Amino acid sequence: MTTIVVVGAGVSGLTCALQLAKQGDGSSITVIAKHMPGDYDPEYTSPFAGANVLPMALEPDTHWESQTWPVLSQLASTTPEAGIHFQKSILYRRAKDEAASFAGPLSDGLFLRNPWFKNLMPDFVDLPKDELPEGMSSGSSFTSVCINTAIYLPWLVGQCRARGVVFKRAVIKHISEASGLSHTGKKADVVINATGLLSSRLGGVMDKKVIPARGQVVVVRNETGGNMVCTSGTDDGNGDELCYIMQRAAGGGTILGGTYMKGNWDGVPDPNIATRIMKRAVEACPALTGGKGIEALDVIRHAVGLRPYREGGVRIEKEKIDGTWVVHNYGHGGWGYQGSWGCAFKVQELVDEVKSDLKIASKL
Ligand SMILES: Cc1cc2nc3c(=O)[nH]c(=O)nc-3n(C[C@H](O)[C@H](O)[C@H](O)COP(=O)(O)OP(=O)(O)OC[C@H]3O[C@@H](n4cnc5c(N)ncnc54)[C@H](O)[C@@H]3O)c2cc1C
Repeated sequence: MTTIVVVGAGVSGLTCALQLAKQGDGSSITVIAKHMPGDYDPEYTSPFAGANVLPMALEPDTHWESQTWPVLSQLASTTPEAGIHFQKSILYRRAKDEAASFAGPLSDGLFLRNPWFKNLMPDFVDLPKDELPEGMSSGSSFTSVCINTAIYLPWLVGQCRARGVVFKRAVIKHISEASGLSHTGKKADVVINATGLLSSRLGGVMDKKVIPARGQVVVVRNETGGNMVCTSGTDDGNGDELCYIMQRAAGGGTILGGTYMKGNWDGVPDPNIATRIMKRAVEACPALTGGKGIEALDVIRHAVGLRPYREGGVRIEKEKIDGTWVVHNYGHGGWGYQGSWGCAFKVQELVDEVKSDLKIASKL
């Protein structure tokens, strides 16, 4: 029997714990975390995400998102209690951003004219020119999902608990402490490090490539009329502001975004940015207020979450630290949900390698 401790109860840690528990191979799994679903703290990113699926990777890193889509899409079809629903997603590309090769805050695969994910996302079509709002040179639409994180994270916890995973609150200063925190009292054979942004400050990891990408949002009661909208850039803010709108499943409200401010740790919503976010949202999606201004928005809350951005991309690899195998899974930036299952499958593969090593060692 393998003893596993997962550090982190964000979408990365919970998805890994569930994937490992699903193997039903008698492993004992403990999830320890400083923050758990239900908590709101900007440095615990997962509750603040929209969250939807807007594939961002560039080839050849598309596997995380392409392996995750079938799982999320299946949940949206079959499992209402997971809090995920299908929504039509519309991407608008501005002429000026296209000319600059989309070197904006999300300067990745999302806004490419001929994206790899047109073969992944159902109903992908380019929009006719006469359906484009002023200033947009092209647009595409496809079927995607929006996840109500306030339902999905507890659902993941429930799925884990049903399979025997034990949850404990703990704050560790060094990753090596985790191996002593299994609920079984045994030393862990493998530790999964899913500490997100705080991997930049965790002893034994201290990854300086990890920085926050500050995401400010406004959550409102108004409805979108059915579509998610995202534009390739904005004019009225700094280069690190975006315009996106999505309506969460099951009464979760509508998320108006946002910002992608690298290196900014400020967890307090900025009222000037909030005004710009709301103004852009009612312009891009008039259905929100029936053509009225931002005064007709019914605000639930203003919020900031800090995305775990990592220079050079996500870190998923195994490393022996102080005699214990650690499998790292952190640094997902703005795509932690839409890549969560692909990353968990890779973590599973690495844990299987550790298990084989342990079996060989025990026979020697
Ligand atoms: C505004 C906004 C919008 C977003 N929209 C989307 C979207 O539409 N689609 C999408 O896919 N993604 C989106 N994201 C990104 C997504 O939210 C993140 O990529 C994802 O939540 C990261 O999850 P994580 O589990 O790696 O980290 P976190 O959720 O931060 O979890 C980290 C966990 O580690 C624990 N931890 C850390 N350090 C320690 C320690 N020392 N001891 C014990 N526990 C520790 C924490 O307590 C926590 O439980 C968005 C993010 C924001 C902010």
